[in-house]
Parts: sequence; C-alpha cells; structure tokens
Amino acid sequence: MSNNPRYKNSALRNKQRQYWKHRGLPCGICGQPIDYSLGMVTDPITGKRRMHPMAFVIDEIIPVSRWREGGYSSPEACAQDIANQRPAHYICNGRRGDGTRGDGITHVVIGAPCSGKTTYAKQRMQQGDVLIDLDAIAHALGYPDTHGVSGYYFKIAQAARAAAIREAAYHRCTTWIIHTAPSAEQLEQYNQRGAVVHVLDPGEQACIDRARIDNRPAGTVEAIRDWYSHDHCYQSSKKAAVEIAQPFADW
Ligand SMILES: [Zn+2]
Repeated sequence: MSNNPRYKNSALRNKQRQYWKHRGLPCGICGQPIDYSLGMVTDPITGKRRMHPMAFVIDEIIPVSRWREGGYSSPEACAQDIANQRPAHYICNGRRGDGTRGDGITHVVIGAPCSGKTTYAKQRMQQGDVLIDLDAIAHALGYPDTHGVSGYYFKIAQAARAAAIREAAYHRCTTWIIHTAPSAEQLEQYNQRGAVVHVLDPGEQACIDRARIDNRPAGTVEAIRDWYSHDHCYQSSKKAAVEIAQPFADW
C-alpha cells in the first residue's frame, strides 16, 4: 500500500487519468502537446525501467504538500479534487517540484477593515512567500499610521502595490494579496490567475470592537459598516476556490 495521498483511492485516480487522456489537452505547465500513449520505457543506458520524460501525469495546481493553503481538509482531498488537476508532462511536473520554487500560488485575502486579514496571511505564509499589503506599503513610504491611508500616500502606495502584483506574477512566487473589497472584475482577474480566495468574516460587530480596541483611525468603523452593507460578489459566488474563513481567535 502506498502512503502517497494520490493513490489512496487508486480506482478514482485511474478514472481521473482516463478522463484527462480522453480530453487530450496539452501540458498545463509548458503548453506543448502530450503524447498520451507514452508510458514506462527501458532506459537504453542503465537498462532500468523508468517513465518517459514526455509521458502524461496528473499535475496538482495547488501542490498536495500545500493542501492547507488551498483550503482542503486533507492531502487526499487536495489530490482527488479534479478541479485542482491538469495534465502535464512527467518532466515538467518534476521540474515544478512542490511549488516552492517558482510556480507559486496567488492567495487573495478579502475582508472588512479589522477582520484580521494581515494576521491570517502571516500565520499561513511560508519562507519565500511574498505579502502585498497596501497599508504596509503606505507606512513604508512614510505615511505615519499603519492603517487607513489617504491622500497622495494612497495613490503612491496603490501604484507601488500594482507594480508589486505584476512583478510577483512574473516571478511566480507564492504571493498573499490583502484586498479589502475587490470589484467583480478584479475578482474575475484573480480567478483567471487561479488564485485561492480567502474571505474573512468574523462578523460586523467583532470588526467594530476590534477597531475600537486597536484605536484605529477615524473612519474605520464607517468603512466596516460600508463593507457589510454591500452585497459583495464573493459572498454569493460559489465559483472558484472561494473560502469563507474565520480568522483565528488570537488575531
Ligand atoms: Zn510540459
């Protein structure tokens, strides 16, 4: 018996392999066609059996090793979710590794002010991950407060944030983007990038209480009320990997 979560249910895995073979799509990593008839070959030099480098394998978009970040309940659930699969060449899948070397995940953390977004992201970040947080950028640019940026600081920080998101996409590192209230278009762009969307909803009153305890700048409570008074696209949307998450109690 294999301990590999991919083969815990080998009948299901075989069925999914048949499904991807039947679809005949190109490699999800390099974009080149896959010859689905390739499989094990005998190495002409060593005489050993090994996988043909261009053979078909199932690649998990959110790597099984990072199942928690993808919002899965277990490594098996991550491996078995067909929405998290794509076909790939054996060699491309091997180069990709466990997702920590240049084929990272984009996480978008959504929620009202004081919902604990930054804490939530920091608790889940691994070494090498990038955090893009408008408040932190504004503060680094000289805005005196750590929240509620306004005026030209807001505009400059926003430009720096957009540049950071573009650059992070280029490097394909795992990136955590803090975004209070994306528009429907912005959410669609995140979905197209295959982002994992985390929606934090500790409740309006909890956010307001937190704003008072933290002595947040004037306007924060209004911003919380405003966030909760709108029907946000991601609250009703069940598509993509929208996850309604509760931040940890110690935020
Ligand atoms: Zn490939």
